[in-house]
Amino acid sequence: MKITCNIIADLMPLYSEKECSEETKLVVEEHIASCSNCQKKLNVMEEDLRAGVGATSEGDIQTIKKITEKIKKDRFSAFLRGSLLLSILGAVICIVAYNIIGVSVAPDGTLVEAFALIPIAWLFVFISIGLGGTLAVRRLLNRN
Ligand SMILES: [Zn+2]
Repeated sequence: MKITCNIIADLMPLYSEKECSEETKLVVEEHIASCSNCQKKLNVMEEDLRAGVGATSEGDIQTIKKITEKIKKDRFSAFLRGSLLLSILGAVICIVAYNIIGVSVAPDGTLVEAFALIPIAWLFVFISIGLGGTLAVRRLLNRN
């Protein structure tokens, strides 16, 4: 049986994706060595294959990376905002509680006050300032 260009053309996709048998591979290579027409066709097909695979997977990876990055950023921002809200709330609760408890003098003359609430309130204030600053910086960086 004579191997025609049409037979080679049919085998080319299998050959270029290396999904053919050794025998088919030899037949295709033998024909291509002596047929510049099929040689060109194979070159074009292999280039398309490479370009196609490269473009889609590379593009997909980039898109997935961007989406993942955005979700991560959003999640972190949400976490920062939530923490900021909680620390402001913490500071307010400490100050309010301190004022409600107030200062009294015990019968034995010692001063009774919820003194521990003051540093805790300051701690919350500093955490709030830190979180607020971080959020502001992130917003500035995202804008650029
Ligand atoms: Zn040919």
